[in-house]
Amino acid sequence: MFLSKLLIPILKNNPAEAKIKSHQLMLRVGMIKQSSAGIYSWLPLGFKVMKKIEKIVREEQDNIGAQELLMPTIQSSDIWKESGRYDDYGEEMLRIKDRQNREMLYGPTNEELITDIFRSSVKSYKSMPQLLYHIQWKFRDELRPRFGIMRCREFYMKDAYSFDLNDEEANFSYNKFFLAYLNTFKRLNLSAIPMAADTGPIGGNLSHEFIILADTGESKIYTDKRIFDVNFNDTVIENKSLKDLRSNYEKYYAVTDEKFNKKEFEKNVPEEHRLITKGIEVGHIFYFGDKYSKPMNSSVDHQGKKVFVKMGSYGVGVSRLVGAIIEAKYDDKNEVMKWPLSVAPYECAILDSGNKLDGHKVSKKALNVLDKLNMLDLIVDDTEDNISSKIKKFNLIGVPYQIILGSKTPDDAVEFREVGGKSEIIKISDLNKIEKIITSKRS
Ligand code: ATP
Ligand code: MG
Repeated sequence: MFLSKLLIPILKNNPAEAKIKSHQLMLRVGMIKQSSAGIYSWLPLGFKVMKKIEKIVREEQDNIGAQELLMPTIQSSDIWKESGRYDDYGEEMLRIKDRQNREMLYGPTNEELITDIFRSSVKSYKSMPQLLYHIQWKFRDELRPRFGIMRCREFYMKDAYSFDLNDEEANFSYNKFFLAYLNTFKRLNLSAIPMAADTGPIGGNLSHEFIILADTGESKIYTDKRIFDVNFNDTVIENKSLKDLRSNYEKYYAVTDEKFNKKEFEKNVPEEHRLITKGIEVGHIFYFGDKYSKPMNSSVDHQGKKVFVKMGSYGVGVSRLVGAIIEAKYDDKNEVMKWPLSVAPYECAILDSGNKLDGHKVSKKALNVLDKLNMLDLIVDDTEDNISSKIKKFNLIGVPYQIILGSKTPDDAVEFREVGGKSEIIKISDLNKIEKIITSKRS
């Protein structure tokens, strides 16, 4: 956690190849490095943020009773031929041959693989419903990869799948994920709206995209602004409560391009509430009944009858979220990024310009502060830079709190600053105050 010892290759200026602010910032502060078109390495700083996002995504899946498993990235073409999607999926699918000349592929999504797991493991309706998820790399050979990790070819996704006996119960499962998504994005400090969406190659007829507003988003959206005020805080995981929640959202017109209808928009949304803007898709949920279970013969026994299971799938772009949060929070004019504390690469930075001890790069005071605040996720800037460039650097990286040990700070105190907020002088003997402030903001 001493900056000089970390692999954080910070650039002086914005890289010319990056068009949008998330891509610029991620390259600028060394979060990612492109390895080939649309394929990136995640360097320590970027990986740390992504892991924290992943943790929140995971916790909210666990909260609705979904079970985590892990499926491989490489799949056999056999199951895709069973579902009929091997030919349908087209050029976005990366097809590979192994040494035995078997047709394999790098999974762009996992409906087939999870259906195969389900059909070989669950035989009776008594084991229903099943909510399963994994967090795994995906590959889609996008025609035009761009905007860094926002639309790339290899990306990290949480994908969940539900299996139910009938439409009614499947709807309950769908609504659980609907709530889990609202809670996930809220914890990431994002205001994401669920919008009626097209189903694309996944199929089915019920679908919502979760979109956050951003000028650089690729989805054009048409919505009633009042949808932002829908409250979901008191929703309990119970059939009626979840149904009410969904209809509270569905009351308001909110769609992307593909579903837009000018007449309906103007009829349903009073002029003063209309909003036409752009957004980023961070999640997408689908209900498609027996679209996969039928061709793949995935059924359970229910009262002597064979029933094809009803399925839904639920994706969150975990890696895209890193960029989406930057798009939502980065002030590129002033070069200030503020990560929500829950996903910040570090919670607090100690910026030291005090008198150095012989043979040490940081002052005794900095080591003392570091030791006293060891409950926090800290980084010490022990480089040769002066204090104002250290502050600039950490404004850019976006560590939400800074402890400044400047030459003007009294010996027995530190300057404590919230990025983009005010600063105060705190006595070394009161350092636990800082710990309290920061830990109380954790979510
Ligand atoms: P898009 O419309 O953006 O191409 P999609 O509808 O094809 O996405 P889904 O199959 O719904 O994608 O995937 C679930 C989530 O995975 C998306 O909501 C998005 O957050 C993320 N995702 C999809 N494609 C990419 C990509 N090429 N790069 C990064 N994240 C992606
Ligand atoms: Mg989608």
